[in-house]
Amino acid sequence: MKKRFFTLIVFIFSIALLIATVVADEGMWPISEIHKLALRSKGLEISPEKIFNPKGLSLIDAVVQVGATGSFVSQNGLIITNHHVAYGAVQAASTKEKDYIKHGFLARNRFEEIPAKGRTARITESYRDVSDAVLSVVKEGMDFAKRTKALEKKIKEIVAETERKNPGKRAEVAEMFSGKTYVLFIYTYLKDIRLVYVPPRSIGEFGGEVDNWMWPRHTGDFSFMRAYVGPDGSSAEYSPENVPFHPKKFLKVAPEGVDEGDFVFLLGYPGRTYRHRTSHFLAFEEEVRMPYVADWYAWQISVMEKMSEGDRAVAIKHLSRIKGLSNTMKNYRGKLKGLKRVRLVERKRKEEKALQNFIETDENLKAEYGNILEEIDKIYTQRREQAEYELILDYLRRSVNMIYFGYTAYEAAVELQKKDLERESAYMDRNFHLTKERLQLTLRNYYEPTDKVILKEMLKRAAHLPKNQRISAIDNLIQDANPENAIDDFIKKTYSETRLNETQFLMEALAKSPQELKKMKDPFIDFAEGLYPTYQKLKEVQKARKGALDKLYSKLIDVKKKFLKKDFIPDANKTLRLTFGRIRGYQPADAVYYKPITTVNGIIEKTTGEEPFDTPPKLMDLFRAKDFGRFESPTLKSVPVCILYDTDTTGGNSGSPVLNARGELVGINFDRTYEATINDFAWSEDYSRSIAVDIRYVLWVTQKFGGVDYLLKEMNVLNK
Ligand code: GLU
Repeated sequence: MKKRFFTLIVFIFSIALLIATVVADEGMWPISEIHKLALRSKGLEISPEKIFNPKGLSLIDAVVQVGATGSFVSQNGLIITNHHVAYGAVQAASTKEKDYIKHGFLARNRFEEIPAKGRTARITESYRDVSDAVLSVVKEGMDFAKRTKALEKKIKEIVAETERKNPGKRAEVAEMFSGKTYVLFIYTYLKDIRLVYVPPRSIGEFGGEVDNWMWPRHTGDFSFMRAYVGPDGSSAEYSPENVPFHPKKFLKVAPEGVDEGDFVFLLGYPGRTYRHRTSHFLAFEEEVRMPYVADWYAWQISVMEKMSEGDRAVAIKHLSRIKGLSNTMKNYRGKLKGLKRVRLVERKRKEEKALQNFIETDENLKAEYGNILEEIDKIYTQRREQAEYELILDYLRRSVNMIYFGYTAYEAAVELQKKDLERESAYMDRNFHLTKERLQLTLRNYYEPTDKVILKEMLKRAAHLPKNQRISAIDNLIQDANPENAIDDFIKKTYSETRLNETQFLMEALAKSPQELKKMKDPFIDFAEGLYPTYQKLKEVQKARKGALDKLYSKLIDVKKKFLKKDFIPDANKTLRLTFGRIRGYQPADAVYYKPITTVNGIIEKTTGEEPFDTPPKLMDLFRAKDFGRFESPTLKSVPVCILYDTDTTGGNSGSPVLNARGELVGINFDRTYEATINDFAWSEDYSRSIAVDIRYVLWVTQKFGGVDYLLKEMNVLNK
């Protein structure tokens, strides 16, 4: 009997071990945690210290943040990332005559490279836990808005002190667990980034929005940029005298690629996940916020597409914005479908019920944690009540350029009167130039007819808000008149009188006191002044809400740990993370199985000649001639294009290097499958799959299609 029991235990244990070795895990692991992962037993063939070594060089030194993620692939600062990550910069450099979006961009040598406007490359230098210092300002029983402000102020002080001690570096404090743990990161920002090679849209965006968030995929979503520094090696703004940056570490490229079942891992800067939030948050997202935003984006996209018809110069202005909106819209629709499919809210509610039962079993637990879930519920109920009001206020500034310009100018004037550390982050000395840069980039793509239509729609929506949620500045302009006519008159007058569409005027407005600003007599600045008290009031509400939730979520994690007897990893927060898994297909629906590697054959199958399924004739010729060179997969007898794997990723992981068991580059992550869009709320090994462009396709296109041999030589893939 004893022996049988022992055999059973051994059997169960081996199964568990087997599962642990073949199955990927949920987890965007902070780099400080990866030593806990036993990565070698999961398939890694190098020492984990080669990935992260706080005492020396390691792979993480090759990974940068360039909007999303990128990595160095040569000693001369060459960066590989996604086509869609470089997109904004490519658009900013494009004109009707030099349409780099359509035709791609190729620098035949270093001197032909052009600035990637608005791009920086952020390198992680070091990090340390500062939770105690940050939380030292929190007092028991503190008012929640005060709590949020005290934490913000303390974080600003830590950042200022760190930057003072580390000249030329930037410090940022990341909240790991809400209201609980904080890590101080020190970064180097490289400011002179240039475009090197960007394939044409028909490769880099092949499949467009139809294929976005989908598998099987055939998009060549990659591009090359290069980082430059001043002649003395320090970070510097663009200058022709600058020299290529020499990274401490660059990735080795593996032109042989990967096969199904191979172990892979990714390093990168995933943006945001919400796995530690409760059912109340998820229900709010599912029932209120995401459907509203998805519809609002769809509406804006249709306006912009209409405006773009028949005029390429106007279309170019809208391209990047349409792409961003469509991307989020489809992501949200995927999430909404997924939430229903897996009944996530219901599942969370069950988990919370079990947790509540656990709490109720013990008087001490009950005293400490008994009403957490109820309190969180109350906060989301209140948020629901004025959801549309908050959404309109939010999108009024985000979607209408003129409100964005006018409001930023007005807020800057108020904030600049305060001491640096007391200002809102966007107006602090360390950030104000970035705020101005963002405004200028937006202004480059400003198109008045679109802006007018969007403002009109926003005002019409605001005019229908319930009585207790009115926006007084908007009510004032409507008064007793017919709202539609009043809105039309307002729009006609403001757009004909404003000068905020002139860069110089806008920049001048950003350097004024409130009194001086008034003298500029710009209708959008005056309107912003009217809106200001409403936004201030909302900010207070949101800070109080955050303060309350921070406290509650922090306690929730504590009691969940007690209940489930396990540790958790923090949600993604734009800090460096590792995730691992395998090249692996999946089953999206009954009786359907998707293989994990696509090839150029699929491009040919999908090609219709019509955008977004048009393929450059040269690529078709290369395919017909079977001119695959060394990039042909011996098993697939073609060039692999995209790969699928079961790691844990989200937005921000765009451009993440996909590395093989030896830590060599085999792909560039760029997307997830439609089912995996709910990753942000819950990861599952059944549906969580991420997508990369295969390095063999990157190299094949770069060499055979682009004719850019020098890049392959630079990456040591071709002999020099
Ligand atoms: N394609 C995604 C995006 O553009 C990035 C990667 C992901 O979210 O999986 O947001």
